[in-house]
Amino acid sequence: MIIRSRIVVPMEGEPIEDGAVVVEGNRIASVARFDDVGRHHSGHLVDLGEHILLPGLINAHCHLDYTMLRGKIAPHGSFTEWIRAINAEKARLTEQDYIDAISVGFAEARRFGTTTIANLTAFPHLAATVTEPVRTWWFGELIDVRNPNPGLADKAVALLKPVKKHWGLAPHAPFTASKQLYARCNEIVRGEGFLLTTHLAESADEMQMFRDRTGSLFDFLRSIGRPMNDCGSGTPLSFLLQTEAIGQRWIIAHLNELDRHDFILLGDAPKFHVVHCPRSHTFFGHATFALDRLQALGFNICLGTDSLASNSDLSLFAEMRELLRNESGLSPREVLAMATLNGALALGQRGLLGTIQPGAFADLVALPNVPSDADVFEKIVAFEETVPWMMLNGDIVTAG
Ligand SMILES: [Zn+2]
Repeated sequence: MIIRSRIVVPMEGEPIEDGAVVVEGNRIASVARFDDVGRHHSGHLVDLGEHILLPGLINAHCHLDYTMLRGKIAPHGSFTEWIRAINAEKARLTEQDYIDAISVGFAEARRFGTTTIANLTAFPHLAATVTEPVRTWWFGELIDVRNPNPGLADKAVALLKPVKKHWGLAPHAPFTASKQLYARCNEIVRGEGFLLTTHLAESADEMQMFRDRTGSLFDFLRSIGRPMNDCGSGTPLSFLLQTEAIGQRWIIAHLNELDRHDFILLGDAPKFHVVHCPRSHTFFGHATFALDRLQALGFNICLGTDSLASNSDLSLFAEMRELLRNESGLSPREVLAMATLNGALALGQRGLLGTIQPGAFADLVALPNVPSDADVFEKIVAFEETVPWMMLNGDIVTAG
């Protein structure tokens, strides 16, 4: 199949005017100007006309479990209060509510041109009941806040591995997952080729808890029976690095709260991947994300939506716009790379996802090429509708 479009944006390399992509099976065989492709390839022609064709977007951090919590929790600046509020909301939901939430979330993400999702689920036993309509990494989210229970990792593997092609483990955060649980996740990963993710240094409350043994998160977790003897000796980052809980294979969500010494540690730390969630970040009013410094230290930064308990929808286009509002030095091209190439790198899929190049999976989206003076990357980032055309794994599908 040959797909022709007014502009093809391969991400690796420059945009191609009157471009074409040759798809063979579920992979891309070639990408070039339409005239050049026509000389070497024949096949069914899909002419998209005045469209911009780009790789499907990659959401590197979300929790589809909580899709139904959209608009339920108001932003009030306290991370600990938000945890209390989400726990109260969760107590009202049934297993069927969560299954529905995951399905509705997938459909919404797909409408917004997302073709790959890293989805953390607190209910790995429900994963088997959902057939994902986009490429999905299922991360079993693990919490053993009161007593260390490293066996949770093995249980999640037993639930996810037989039913999902791509899966991983997500000890929730250093304030809810024990170091024994992190250690068990690392142990398992040595024998299996899967991915690991966690939340780290997200909020000022978390920083206060670990560094100062005080604050609302410290008080709340102590009140529910968490042993607090790991608090009072350093920052959340230094705690996880000291215990060798995180390494190069990890995808670290947030990393908002870092002090001067943390940046020194990061210089020598394994170069894990970092997911930034711009609108969730704004919802909580977290400290400014140190994008430039983290990039300068060699960390790969990708984008996620987080859950709808702290965001209004699952559009990565909106995440890109929010990031551009907050980071005046960034270009639309750079933020699009974060939602494509960088997400692929984090998932161990460099050259296979988030790019239009020979050998990559044929996950593509097309957007209308609206006439204006804006460059193609500005037009992409400005897109607010349902994606009108989409290809997933070589099949043309409806996005809506
Ligand atoms: Zn999260």
